[in-house]
Amino acid sequence: MTPTLQQALDRIDDRVDDLVELTRDLIRFPTINPPGEAYQPCAEYIGKRLSKRDFDVEYVRAVGAPGDSDAYPRVNVIARRDGSGPGPCVHFNGHLDVVEVGSGWTVPPFDGVVKDNKVYGRGACDMKGGLASAIIAVEALIDSDPDYPGAIEISGTVDEESGGFGGVAFLAERGWFSTPRVDHVVIPEPLNVDRVCIGHRGVWWAQIETKGRIAHGSMPFLGDSAIRHMTTVLERFEQELYPALAKRISDMPVVPDGARQSTMNINSIHGGQGEAHAGLPTPCVADSCRVIIDRRFLIEESLEQVRSEVVDILENLAMSRPYFRYDIREILAVPASISDKNGPVATTTAAAIEEILAVEPAIVCSPGTYDQKHIDRIGKLKDCVAYGPGQLDLAHQPDEWVGIEDMTAAAKVMALVASRLLRRTA
Ligand SMILES: [Zn+2]
Repeated sequence: MTPTLQQALDRIDDRVDDLVELTRDLIRFPTINPPGEAYQPCAEYIGKRLSKRDFDVEYVRAVGAPGDSDAYPRVNVIARRDGSGPGPCVHFNGHLDVVEVGSGWTVPPFDGVVKDNKVYGRGACDMKGGLASAIIAVEALIDSDPDYPGAIEISGTVDEESGGFGGVAFLAERGWFSTPRVDHVVIPEPLNVDRVCIGHRGVWWAQIETKGRIAHGSMPFLGDSAIRHMTTVLERFEQELYPALAKRISDMPVVPDGARQSTMNINSIHGGQGEAHAGLPTPCVADSCRVIIDRRFLIEESLEQVRSEVVDILENLAMSRPYFRYDIREILAVPASISDKNGPVATTTAAAIEEILAVEPAIVCSPGTYDQKHIDRIGKLKDCVAYGPGQLDLAHQPDEWVGIEDMTAAAKVMALVASRLLRRTA
């Protein structure tokens, strides 16, 4: 540990109050997505803060991206501070958006309540606490070592919770997440303070609709029930697909253990008439039934395989079951992503965790997806990890919180990571 670095770590200890206040300020912007509330003021708050440390700040609105409108502009902020000479660029990326509040809260979700060494609020752990830790880490580093080589970037991006199309994907398509501009990326998602996350499983969302013919419910033989057709689809899933998925175990170190296998959730099912007329019965045969499936797949599986094993079941039913007709519509398709666990950012982060926390770091993959997919696929940048404070299980839950000690430790780890990557001799 150099004296300069030790100074940066001491500064983080001295600035815990600032870290907490910054987290609370970020939580107070109710950046709920959808629809994409308060993005612009939240982005400007971060931009204003970083411009005081000589960052060049740019705002990029994702015009034309899903959800972008004058009422809900998709505004991203990217701040860059060049050092005193040539060198790599280390980038910290956090998403500004949070999911809806939901019920079951015992504290106000957007006040930033501090209690028992924790900051509470929607987005506290996912991921405003992580973004605040990265900002404090970088500020402490700059104050101790203003003449570092290379460049430091911090971005606050939108829409991660809805796929990242107006956020990291939009920026990656325009070169913001590629070399030579950026070399190493850390995304402070809440993967726990002692774990380095090197990737995530893939996602395939699709809506399947079975079709029938409407008729009077007292004479169902005159119609054709879309719900009964859907029952056969679900039966085939139970008999064929689920057992097959359970047998596929990934070499990816996905946590928790149950997510090492391939999975599929049925997110919703709607069939028949009457949804629009709550409480009133409609004596009709269902002419439509729709399910939305959420298939999470492994690095060992291809998207084509994932699609075709569902389509094969539907095609098979279309051939074998009288009057079976269906439609399938893809909603979201994202391949799995994994970076090299022996790459610079992963090894540097693991070493920094060991140094700060004196524990053996775990190398993990996320069961869900996050913006690494866009940095990998669109930006073609492989040296990316997720590392940040907060427990993954608390994300999207009522009474979400982030621990102040964890944020402080994560800030120190990130300061070490940034400093070592900037001064790394390849
Ligand atoms: Zn997140």
